Amino acid sequence: MRDRFDHETYWRILDRLSRTHRPVRFADLRPGLPGTPFFILRHDIDFSPAAALRLAEMEAARGVRATYFLLLNTFYYNLLSPEHTDVPRRIAELGHEVGLHYDLRFLQAFPGRRFKELLDEQARLLGRLSGVPVESVALHQPALVGEDGDGAGHRVGPEVVGAG
Ligand SMILES: [Zn+2]
Repeated sequence: MRDRFDHETYWRILDRLSRTHRPVRFADLRPGLPGTPFFILRHDIDFSPAAALRLAEMEAARGVRATYFLLLNTFYYNLLSPEHTDVPRRIAELGHEVGLHYDLRFLQAFPGRRFKELLDEQARLLGRLSGVPVESVALHQPALVGEDGDGAGHRVGPEVVGAG
């Protein structure tokens, strides 16, 4: 029972946590850490924007706000395809933050001096899709690109980030 990885367990954990802490998004940390106990929910969307949207709806119904990191370029989905293109906007409209999940392997196809420019372009495009400028970015699959993967590298405000 304790080790189950399912929605029921997820909601039970969130309900318990929400009794003493409030959920905040990465962007909420821009002015500094809240003075009251808080937690951050980070979702790296590696496979299914549709599943992410369903979870975003369920969390919003419970008053939980999370940060959803979406990839623009992945084998598994294309945010510019008609079936997914409204997902960033719908997630943002539910009160969640939409952040950029980026693949360093894409950037590595270019000279390093272009990384920031290309990352900023991706963030700008995702912000246009969601309707809210992107403030947070997170690295996709850091173990595959030689990053340490400790998850500490989040950035609030466009520069570079962490693991996932
Ligand atoms: Zn990822």
